[in-house]
Amino acid sequence: MKALGVTFRHGVHPPDSKSLTERIPIRRMPFPQRIALPLRQNAGKPARCLVRKGDRVERGDMIAEADGYMSVPVHASAAGTVADIGWWPHPDGSMAETVIIDVEPHSPQIPRPRIVPRWEGLTPDQVRSEVQKGGVVGLGGAAFPTHVKLAPPEDFPIDWLLVNGAECEPFLTTDHRTMVEYPERVHFGIRIMMQCLGVERAVIGVEKNKPDAIEALERAKPSDLDITVQPLVVKYPQGAEKMLINVVTGHEVPSGKLPMHVGTVVQNVGSIATIAEIFETGLPLIERVVTVTGPGVKRPSNLIIPVGTQLGDVLEFCGGITDDAAEIVFGGPMMGTSQPDMRTPLTKGTTGIVVLTKAEVKPKRTYPCISCGHCLDACPVFLNPSQLGKLAQAGRYEAMEEAHLADCMLCGSCSYVCPSNIPLSQMFALSKSALRRQKEVAPPPAPAEKEEAAA
Ligand code: SF4
Ligand code: SF4
Repeated sequence: MKALGVTFRHGVHPPDSKSLTERIPIRRMPFPQRIALPLRQNAGKPARCLVRKGDRVERGDMIAEADGYMSVPVHASAAGTVADIGWWPHPDGSMAETVIIDVEPHSPQIPRPRIVPRWEGLTPDQVRSEVQKGGVVGLGGAAFPTHVKLAPPEDFPIDWLLVNGAECEPFLTTDHRTMVEYPERVHFGIRIMMQCLGVERAVIGVEKNKPDAIEALERAKPSDLDITVQPLVVKYPQGAEKMLINVVTGHEVPSGKLPMHVGTVVQNVGSIATIAEIFETGLPLIERVVTVTGPGVKRPSNLIIPVGTQLGDVLEFCGGITDDAAEIVFGGPMMGTSQPDMRTPLTKGTTGIVVLTKAEVKPKRTYPCISCGHCLDACPVFLNPSQLGKLAQAGRYEAMEEAHLADCMLCGSCSYVCPSNIPLSQMFALSKSALRRQKEVAPPPAPAEKEEAAA
């Protein structure tokens, strides 16, 4: 393991702005009148709907099943009646097929837990299957199906389980409060993951600006497992998988490769706590901890919110927004997405709601690139954002691919430092989806080409 104080190269230091909520205990938000559950809540294939308009559902019932291996089911987060199934605003800015449930008024909302066997007697395959059935995805934002992470191919032996408690995104305190208030649950989740992956050591990386979380995790540490709680230098994007691996293990994940290629599985601390809950309570992933914060919200809070609760209902519960509120972001100011529609639901991957005022929102007016090089100094994966930006403006997506666009993790460090206000990471996100679309519509290769490719 690397020495303490060592950090990755490049990156930025935005103000952490966590004081609004870092000491506020997590509390439960009451059930709203209506919830909206998108079928697309995970990286991979969306779930397949199982209910029809008018159906009665209990809290915890599966309303959509996994569509294949790279998919997870969606469960009702409240008891009620299916009011509609149709297109609804999605946090990613698109419209997505969504199940609308009118929540039963005055219902005690007693959950219908699934029967989960004792985890100790399960094989790794059975553990993975239960995790998939519980609809568990990474709660750090990317919503990657957790059962897939638990099943690295046999030719890539895993040595390290790296637990991501960095939470480097400004304003957010979701993981911080989870570590402070539920450290035993985090350790229980680590125990299950370690057994499932067959690894003997785990490291929890926590930035030093969360001393109470470090202390709570140290205090609750089981004596029979090799778990290290490692304080990390405060720097953005410390929580990106490749950065965390580099800082903790000293390994560099090569371009185009994954953590498993350097013998590591990285999992967010909230997802690990959810794995523990799956086996403790039998409840699937139907609620999550969310930070509601920013100078533009009247009552900043850390809340347990039913998945599918609409943005407007959450903000109302937090006292509403201030007169100078200028932008609402799901995620955080560096990597989050702006939300113009109050009907947008919180999904499994929503880490927080940040309401920014005019003082924090970057001016929209952009200027030409002045070749200052600040973005190159900021990029933690050593790309040339200035050059990529020019290629994006020219629509030269293939050239961007050659310039390693795939390695860009859309961290926003380049946009943050750009004196010309060029929305670089936003342009890279759009270029990535344009490339994806191009590949989807590309005609299949002719038979001769296929043979050539196979040779
Ligand atoms: S958004 Fe992409 S190009 Fe910009 S700093 Fe982050 S990784 Fe580098
Ligand atoms: S920081 Fe902005 S202005 Fe400076 S080189 Fe990069 S893109 Fe150009």
